[in-house]
Amino acid sequence: MSEPLDSHVDLASVSKDERLALMRHSAAHVLAEAMLDLIPDAELGIGPPIDTGFYYDFRLSRPLTQEDLGWLEERMRQSIASQHAFQMSKVTRSEAETRWKQQPFKLDLLKDLEDNNITHCTHAEFTDLCRGGHVNHTGEIPVFKLMSIAGAYWRGSEKNPQLQRIYGALFETEEELAAYEAQLEEARRRDHRRIGRDLKLFDLYDEVGPGHVVWLPAGATIRRELERWVEDLEIEHGYDHVITPVIAKRELYIRSGHWDHYQDAMYPIMEREGEQYCLRPMNCPHHIMILASEQHSYREYPIRIAELGNMHRWEKSGQVSGMSRVRIMTLNDAHIFCTDVEMVEREVEGVLRLMEHAYGVLGLTDYTYRLSLGDPNNHEKYVDNPPMWEAGEALLRRVLQRLELDFYEAPDEAAFYGPKIDVQFQTAAGKDESLVTVQVDFHLPTQFELEYVTEDGGRARPIIVHRGLLSTMERMVALLIEQYEGAFPLWLAPTQAAIIPIADRHVPYAEEVAARLKSHRLRVEVDTRSERMNAKIRTAQLRKIPYMFVVGDREEEAQTASLRVRGGGNLGVMSLDDIVTKLVHERDTKALT
Ligand code: ATP
Ligand code: ZN
Ligand code: ZN
Repeated sequence: MSEPLDSHVDLASVSKDERLALMRHSAAHVLAEAMLDLIPDAELGIGPPIDTGFYYDFRLSRPLTQEDLGWLEERMRQSIASQHAFQMSKVTRSEAETRWKQQPFKLDLLKDLEDNNITHCTHAEFTDLCRGGHVNHTGEIPVFKLMSIAGAYWRGSEKNPQLQRIYGALFETEEELAAYEAQLEEARRRDHRRIGRDLKLFDLYDEVGPGHVVWLPAGATIRRELERWVEDLEIEHGYDHVITPVIAKRELYIRSGHWDHYQDAMYPIMEREGEQYCLRPMNCPHHIMILASEQHSYREYPIRIAELGNMHRWEKSGQVSGMSRVRIMTLNDAHIFCTDVEMVEREVEGVLRLMEHAYGVLGLTDYTYRLSLGDPNNHEKYVDNPPMWEAGEALLRRVLQRLELDFYEAPDEAAFYGPKIDVQFQTAAGKDESLVTVQVDFHLPTQFELEYVTEDGGRARPIIVHRGLLSTMERMVALLIEQYEGAFPLWLAPTQAAIIPIADRHVPYAEEVAARLKSHRLRVEVDTRSERMNAKIRTAQLRKIPYMFVVGDREEEAQTASLRVRGGGNLGVMSLDDIVTKLVHERDTKALT
């Protein structure tokens, strides 16, 4: 027999977080109650609380619409107004099995429960299989709103049926809900996927494939500028840039260990003339080949081999997103070969300093350092060599401490061959992502039997520092789009100035101004459309072009232009010479206007 349980809770005596969790979970029950009214044969998944509210997963005979959300919300408000009590009860397995015989997902959940630990929760006419954690009655559910519908797989696995998930936001006050909505709106405004489309920076085509980014001319310009800059910066700091193919024989990846530890993230094998080839997921083996092809003396170390390396990773479908998580990417990569631990420490430090410089230039200042550790029990994911892991982790920790950088440690985030320092940034949507990575590796040198000639003519094994400075071009540009909201500093802006003739008769002079700027390698466009001046200004502003030069009779006569900036300011009339000087200076100093 079902046995009622006392689950009274005094909301005033629990912490705000706990209270919100109880309220959010209770609201999920009310949502499921409303759903059974809307679609009586709905199959129920799970309905947990989350950081900003709750969700519930359903398998339904039809796709949900925005109108459905409105209807459900209204129905939920009725249930809340009725102050139905939440009543927990303990049931036997057979009672539960009978109760859920039409609900395959509940039966699936039931399998994981122990016989004496099966509980139901009932409010109004609605019962759910639930381990508890509710407010006392529906009237204690405060401010909520149904936000969106998304797809989800049962138990998160692509092998299982697809469900429809309804997200709700729930807070204690109207103000908190409004603040959350404002934050969402801000994230939408900065979202690189939206801005990338609006400004025609990049695109994704179903026929080309998910995660296979196509860079349009404007986006390719930004990327080219970044690449030229970072290559020059690295060359200045003692890196040798190379170019290596994106494919290698499978044996190379067997030897490196990628085949054993990283295969799931690789594209399938290609086969021709009896040979098997892989699209590379990382550039390390190629760079190691270069090092190993020649004998080097300790005097030549450190040897820094760098490449804008094109890589291919089979990221899970559910994780691929815009340009921040893609499947084909170009990493600003390097491998620094070192003779000993002291040299490794110096090089790691050098990378972190170079990174601080580079990110300063880009105006990216909001980041945290993460020491990413392995997992000694997971030999499938990480090579099994405890002393090696300890040495690498201790080394990186020492460098971080010596530089007095604030950092946190994260287990199970290392590379398969060694620990790393990752530099973490937040996306507009509030997701944490690694940009920079610096990794110590004692493993690949052994796999490839690398050696250098020591001072006394002997042989010793080098150590490798793997490092990515700007991250992949894809992820970096995604972050920059969000950082600048599409309004790039002059040196990166795809179009740096728009020349706006007031009337058609000013077009020839506008072309002259443009030619003058172009001769200084400035990227300019003349707006020759027969539109009104204000409409042309508006277009340039929407395209986030940093400068607009308006030219009419007076400007032509005096060989000047009237200067406007994208934010809306008017800088007045300037001579062409002054304009060139100003823009060239701003570009060459990479000013962050
Ligand atoms: P993540 O933890 O982001 O999956 P990872 O641990 O696989 O990255 P590495 O193998 O060190 O990272 O790759 C170097 C850098 O390349 C990462 O620090 C990250 O900035 C970037 N990167 C990795 N995977 C992707 C991807 N799928 N799309 C875009 N950039 C990526
Ligand atoms: Zn519950
Ligand atoms: Zn590497």
